[in-house]
Amino acid sequence: MTEETLIILGSGPAGLTAALYAARANLNPLLITGNEFGGQIAITNDVENYPGFDSILGPDLTEKMKVQAEKFGARFAYDLVTEVDFTKGSPFTLKTYSAEYRAKAVIIATGASAKRLGVPGEEEYIGHGVSYCATCDGFFFRDKEVIVVGGGDSALQEGLFLTKYASRVRIVHRRDKLRAEELLKARAKANEKISFVWDTALEEIKGNGVVQEVVAKNLKTGQTEIMKVDGVFVFIGHFPNTQIFEGQLVMDEQKFLVTDKYRQTSVPGVFAAGEVQDPIFKQAVSSAGHGCEAAIAAERWLAERGVE
Ligand code: NAP
Repeated sequence: MTEETLIILGSGPAGLTAALYAARANLNPLLITGNEFGGQIAITNDVENYPGFDSILGPDLTEKMKVQAEKFGARFAYDLVTEVDFTKGSPFTLKTYSAEYRAKAVIIATGASAKRLGVPGEEEYIGHGVSYCATCDGFFFRDKEVIVVGGGDSALQEGLFLTKYASRVRIVHRRDKLRAEELLKARAKANEKISFVWDTALEEIKGNGVVQEVVAKNLKTGQTEIMKVDGVFVFIGHFPNTQIFEGQLVMDEQKFLVTDKYRQTSVPGVFAAGEVQDPIFKQAVSSAGHGCEAAIAAERWLAERGVE
């Protein structure tokens, strides 16, 4: 059992910013990265709305945040927390694949994961034509036809990225109005490779070892059609990664952690930052802000209890 002052769970902008602030406050934080270092931003191609950077690749932004936190003494464990016990108060116990820790305070920044459509064929063809990450898989669709499901910023941003490789990108949306920001809408509509399929939902993904077609239903007319495609990219939002805190921390009806204005959860000494507790804004910069707030609040909470 390793004794720690502050453990941070998650390595997206919220976790990395919390590590930077906690390290600068001499808390010697240990950040447990989770399975995917950097979280969602690390699988985003161009980030154009992070202040200070005109445009930066998601992985580069993550690396800069990591190096900056490390410079001030943050430590990283490339591991996944599988179990926590917050029920007995501080110090809290946490188990990972390879270790067991006791921590006086904890910051949860486990983020959110891509939602699935839940249609037949989706699970079967993940990695064989079905994807949730254009940056990771776009390259495999050079000169091929893909569809993107969704009508938000992710669908448009990733759809635009896919035009670098694919010969045709059809954006299939369940309504006839996009939720995405105006700039992305304008760019997508101006792109010759992109077309929109409105009021339509996928009913099934079919293939023969790899994706070959989808069954799509027009929600207004009820008619179904077969669309021949090589790839299906799904961007229909995210769900918070809170499963391991079930029954220990208060969550809202969508399972986001509930925090107060100090980013403290329902258990004193356990703080949360970023998308795991943010059903509204979900931006890299707002997550980084929450990480800063959680670290400052944790430092004060520890200081009030005599932990320097
Ligand atoms: P989102 O904004 O929640 O949009 C999800 C889209 O998927 C919506 O158009 C929704 O349709 C559709 N959808 C949801 N469930 C569906 C289902 N079961 N079947 C079919 N379609 C479904 O999610 P997001 O685009 O991932 O964005 C998440 C957050 O990240 C947002 O706050 C966004 O602003 C932010 N973000 C920002 C940028 C940027 O700034 N450039 C880039 C990426 C993401 P309805 O519209 O009908 O609800």
